[in-house]
Amino acid sequence: MKIALITGITGQDGSYLAKLLLKKHYKVIGTVRSTRCTNRANFEYLGIDDDIIIEELDLLDMTNIIRLIQKYKPNEIYNLAAQSSVGLSFEQPIGTFSFNTMSVNNLLEAIRLFSRKTKLYQASSSEMYGRVSSMPITLDTPMQPISPYGISKMASYFMIKTYRESYGLFVSNGVLFNHESYLRSNNFFIKKVIKDSIAIKNKKLQYLKIGNLNVKRDFGYAPSYVEAMWEMMQLNKSDDFMICSGKSILLKDIIFYIFDKLSLDKNLIIVDKSFFRPNEIEEIYGDNSKAKEILNWNYSYSFFDVLDILIEEEMKINDIR
Ligand code: NDP
Repeated sequence: MKIALITGITGQDGSYLAKLLLKKHYKVIGTVRSTRCTNRANFEYLGIDDDIIIEELDLLDMTNIIRLIQKYKPNEIYNLAAQSSVGLSFEQPIGTFSFNTMSVNNLLEAIRLFSRKTKLYQASSSEMYGRVSSMPITLDTPMQPISPYGISKMASYFMIKTYRESYGLFVSNGVLFNHESYLRSNNFFIKKVIKDSIAIKNKKLQYLKIGNLNVKRDFGYAPSYVEAMWEMMQLNKSDDFMICSGKSILLKDIIFYIFDKLSLDKNLIIVDKSFFRPNEIEEIYGDNSKAKEILNWNYSYSFFDVLDILIEEEMKINDIR
């Protein structure tokens, strides 16, 4: 039986990945900041609450990581724990940068010194590329991050590459573009828009207040993106991959689609400048051809397909028919 350790298991990707690995008969160990206040809602939603082993882990304390690695001897570690919000990273730049980089450095050193056969997946992000001059973004596109979050992910991306090249470790970056699901936190755009729109439909909310809608993003479906993470860890040689849909979509079109689907009046959409970010990338989309060619990963959803799934799932939970 293979053993996988997932940091950030309580989050969107951690929960879907845990479910996938359990289906593949892995023993899944998930790490949390504190076992006293672990949010198990996502595990319960996916029906995996009884099947994962939860351990407390401070990723800023390398000895803590070493003890856990020695206890479980994992074949694969998926490092998903991070302060993951771009917006929040402007409010908490030091915390975001410190945690998102030091946690990766500690994992790399622990593996290098004590567990060289353990494979490591690092959750890298399209936000590393920032304001690019040409698209689609590829792994060769120069990085010019424009948020504390993007900068933290860029530093870790290069640390992963450095350890792979310098020490021959199996450590890989999955450069993922935005991906969504029912389990996305409420503070992220798609989830917020769907939830608020349903609340308007239910007459529990009057307006949808939203930030800058004139930006285009490459969005995908989280349960499918975690499959690519696993595929990356099954290769014989570690490498970096870009996981994205390959297309961009205007945020305004997403809102209009959701409003049409729920038959809501578009005059209820209020653009509120206080939600604008200090710095915003206008458009990004990536190139997923390497992932499609080398990994056994065939992503074919349009984002409108994904929206249909998300709206349906959210309506089912909110009991709207
Ligand atoms: P979530 O925000 O849903 O989950 C983040 C996880 O990290 C949670 O389990 C959270 O734990 C944990 N975490 C946050 N801060 C800390 C900390 N200081 N110490 C320990 N654990 C912490 O993120 P996603 O699941 O969406 O994303 C997974 C990873 O992929 C992240 O690293 C993210 O940056 C990256 N990524 C995500 C993309 C996306 O579109 N979803 C795109 C590209 C990259 P807790 O429950 O305690 O808060």
